[in-house]
Amino acid sequence: MCGLSDLFCEPPHSFGEAPFAQFVSVLLLWFEEHARDLPWRREYTPYGVWIAEVMLSQTQVARVVSYYERFLKRFPDVASLASASQEEVFLLWEGLGYYRRALDLHKAAQVISQEFGGTIPRDYVSLRKLPGVGPYIASAILAIGYNDPVLALEANGRRVLARFFGLSREHIPQEVVEHLASCIPQGKARLVNQAIMDFGALVCTPRNPKCSPCPLREDCVSCGREGSVGKAQKRILKNLRVALCFEDEMVLLEKSAGRLFAELFVFPWGEDTGDPKTWMEELGKRYDFTPENLHFVGAFTHAYTRYKVYVRVFRVLVRRQGEEGVWVPKGKLSKYPFPSLFRKALCLAFPGEYPL
Ligand code: SF4
Repeated sequence: MCGLSDLFCEPPHSFGEAPFAQFVSVLLLWFEEHARDLPWRREYTPYGVWIAEVMLSQTQVARVVSYYERFLKRFPDVASLASASQEEVFLLWEGLGYYRRALDLHKAAQVISQEFGGTIPRDYVSLRKLPGVGPYIASAILAIGYNDPVLALEANGRRVLARFFGLSREHIPQEVVEHLASCIPQGKARLVNQAIMDFGALVCTPRNPKCSPCPLREDCVSCGREGSVGKAQKRILKNLRVALCFEDEMVLLEKSAGRLFAELFVFPWGEDTGDPKTWMEELGKRYDFTPENLHFVGAFTHAYTRYKVYVRVFRVLVRRQGEEGVWVPKGKLSKYPFPSLFRKALCLAFPGEYPL
């Protein structure tokens, strides 16, 4: 059994399969027709992807194309780049700006030559140790260069995910990244990753995203919110979380105090901010229980009144210390008139007993 310090001992599973798988398959189909023709996509190599991504990290795609072609012509592989002089590398970089990138590329090529026999490493930790290789470029080399099933999220990708799932683009939860990565079909990591990027560059653009013809619009939390459809469709976005706390067959309910679900019995819920573990400790103090195992079971989007919410659901095994709170036998929950958001949470937490 897990102690309080091991609240996350069970790995997350079932993160709302449908929207994630749908997201990936729709984008793959879209990419088949709309992929941009770019020189680093004609023949995929980890080296070519690395150079392209470093150039793209501070520069527009259209500007990078000619620089990339010239650079690859002169330095077609790690060995030729590593053995070049610094001046030569700078010369080919001239006009591209942010020269630190060229310096780091050159140094990293030398490290790869000396420590990895000229082969760009195929693991995240080694890649991150190379000069100038941050989390995104390391992931892009793995995903696009090596076609490994990881997700590389740059600004375009973060924006698409944030809008589609109703998240903050600064804090895309790791569960979302992992779940999407697990939905990548065998051998299609580079296509999925580039599909997300191109989609962000061409459809889900920073300003005036093209929501009307967007193939993701049906499931997108932000559809129409960013300006391309009428104001009447705007909804307020919220990230919520719901906890199903249980001990043996008893489940905790609380009476909703706010206007939204006024006077209804619901499962403990709140805005999804901060650490769920801390939230659970606070609930434990309020209802006199010790949380023993916090298990993330999934998420869903839900629309009501003016809101469109992204709800994460947790199932929490607790040890009760007193009589605080309203504890109801699990088998009797079907008699309670839950708002549909909480009904969905219940089905997600106890799928065998409460099928959707
Ligand atoms: S519906 Fe609009 S906001 Fe949502 S993914 Fe499509 S373009 Fe982006």
